[in-house]
Amino acid sequence: MRVYADNAATTKMSKVAADVMMEAIENGYGNPSSSYSLGRDARIALERARTKTAKALGAKPEEIFFTSGGTESNNWAIKSAANKRGGHMVSTRVEHPSVLNCLRYLEDLGIAVTYLGVDQSGRVSPDELRDAIRKDTLLVTVMTANNEVGTIQPIQAMTDITREHEIIFHTDAVQAAGHIPVDVKAFGVDMLSISGHKFGGPRGIGALYVRKGLKLPPLLHGGDQENGARSGTENTPGICAMAAALEDSVSSLRENADKVAQMRDRLIDGILKIPGTRPTGDREMRLPGIASFAFDGIDGERLVRALDETGICASSSAACSSGGGNISHVLTAMGLPDEVIRGSLRLSINEINTDGEIDYILKKLPGIVKNLRDL
Ligand SMILES: *Cc1c(COP(=O)(O)O)cnc(C)c1O
Repeated sequence: MRVYADNAATTKMSKVAADVMMEAIENGYGNPSSSYSLGRDARIALERARTKTAKALGAKPEEIFFTSGGTESNNWAIKSAANKRGGHMVSTRVEHPSVLNCLRYLEDLGIAVTYLGVDQSGRVSPDELRDAIRKDTLLVTVMTANNEVGTIQPIQAMTDITREHEIIFHTDAVQAAGHIPVDVKAFGVDMLSISGHKFGGPRGIGALYVRKGLKLPPLLHGGDQENGARSGTENTPGICAMAAALEDSVSSLRENADKVAQMRDRLIDGILKIPGTRPTGDREMRLPGIASFAFDGIDGERLVRALDETGICASSSAACSSGGGNISHVLTAMGLPDEVIRGSLRLSINEINTDGEIDYILKKLPGIVKNLRDL
């Protein structure tokens, strides 16, 4: 049996998205900038995908810019806010590396950055954000939901504060979009990043929402695609497939979220029965698909390898840093000691997982944990 429980790292492309992608490859292959009908049809498909994407996020089509993924969207949003000299930004200690490493780069260029801490469950305090704001604050960037522990941040409460001070607010909604309600107006954000492959779309495609009235300097100069903001021939198969996957996820969001959260809670309750196990992340404010733990006296990487031998795909700390021997910056920020963090495990599921697969994990895991501890 193979159980794929690493959907926070990437998802299998949905049938809907794969069909749309194949159709665009086989028949919709014109360049959207060409004026013959094959090109015009590609342009129509591209703009339909933009409208779908906008609708799924509560945005207007002209506020959606297609990118190569979450990393690019985050880089564009953050670096574009820094084109003045000096200044200050606020973020958190639990962001994805594509945010943290952008900020470190900007620090080298002379931007000051305040990294807000989190509580034990991984939540940021809006009051701490209020205290961190300075006269020269250019941007606040806080993720909607965390990729390692699934904790959801109080975005609305934070944008209420930044709006008062007319500071730009960006959120990395890569783990949230398609899984919990994401609405740019309800959130009150100025910019928001999404990535296709985290909700059943293809890899290498994403989008950045930019609130109307906010003008970003072009990311790539060239043939002036994406309204001059991001040049390069549009990846129409990827764009159309991502839009189809997002529309599909959002249209069955409530139903899927309930089903997935039920499986997640069964995982959490079952796994916490294993002695020496603690849950990580917030029990209430958490993504439906992420269950995360720390096991005493176990090396998470060995646990992941042992699970792989029984066909279960899971991860320890962040998938992005696994193999590197890094200690999770997220769990460290949550106040967990290194020896506990070493035993971390993340199981991330979605609507294509089944109750039978949850049973299989619950059947195999206790024995694996015991064996590793006995070694
Ligand atoms: C996966 C992920 C990203 C990076 O997205 P890519 O499309 O893989 O570049 C950024 N932020 C979060 C929270 C993620 O989970």
